[in-house]
Amino acid sequence: MRRTLSRLVRTPIVGGNWKMNAGNGITLETVDALVAGLNAAPAPKCEVFCAPPTLYLAHVNATLKNGFVTSAQNCYKTTKGAFTGETSPEMLVDAGVPWTLIGHSERRDVFGETDELLGEKIAHAQSTGLGVVACCGEHKEAREAGTTMDVLIPQLQAIASSTSDWSKMVIAYEPVWAIGTGLTATTEQAQGTCADIRSWLAENVSAEVADAIRIQYGGSVNDGNAAELAQAPDVDGFLIGGASLKADAFATCYGVFK
Ligand code: PGA
Repeated sequence: MRRTLSRLVRTPIVGGNWKMNAGNGITLETVDALVAGLNAAPAPKCEVFCAPPTLYLAHVNATLKNGFVTSAQNCYKTTKGAFTGETSPEMLVDAGVPWTLIGHSERRDVFGETDELLGEKIAHAQSTGLGVVACCGEHKEAREAGTTMDVLIPQLQAIASSTSDWSKMVIAYEPVWAIGTGLTATTEQAQGTCADIRSWLAENVSAEVADAIRIQYGGSVNDGNAAELAQAPDVDGFLIGGASLKADAFATCYGVFK
């Protein structure tokens, strides 16, 4: 059974995932240009985070104002140790970063991260008080075969069994076929799957968690389609890649949540 409750009880949350981009370029200068644009943009009326590359995270955290907060794009599952190239949740907390993404499809598909590892990362990140934006999504084949929830359920199980503080958990539903492709899910597809995720949470976690959790849609959200997607009552915000690299486009996207 699908469960659609008023979004009035949930504060929308929009994220900008800069990936391995620094604004419209790859330098500190282009990071600063994007931060300046965001600081001059209309202040958000919902929660908004920006997730720059790790190298720039502390700098952006110190310079980004205007009501925005920062997020990491990833972190590891332990506090410290011999893990070359990794960042711990404790380090993010120490740097004043309130959020991290975990399980983005690029982490799953490009870096081979499994649900087991992602569950460990979520559990450890949550133990430090870091907020987690846990990503899930299906590939094109599953969407076309009508097996989207068959793919999402194991991902959701890994997320749910690792979550200790649901108030610091956001789920980002990002169909992989819509990420960076310009192929946005229709509002019906985004609504339908976000509602299915909420129903799964109601049945497998609790009605309270299902009612309160924010579920973002991500995948080619831009300034032209954000208003329409935001009509979906179970879409509580967006996770935005390409369009988050331009301050005015990003501002239009979060501006649809008033
Ligand atoms: P996109 O990326 O908006 O460029 O499709 C979304 C994401 O990967 O989070």
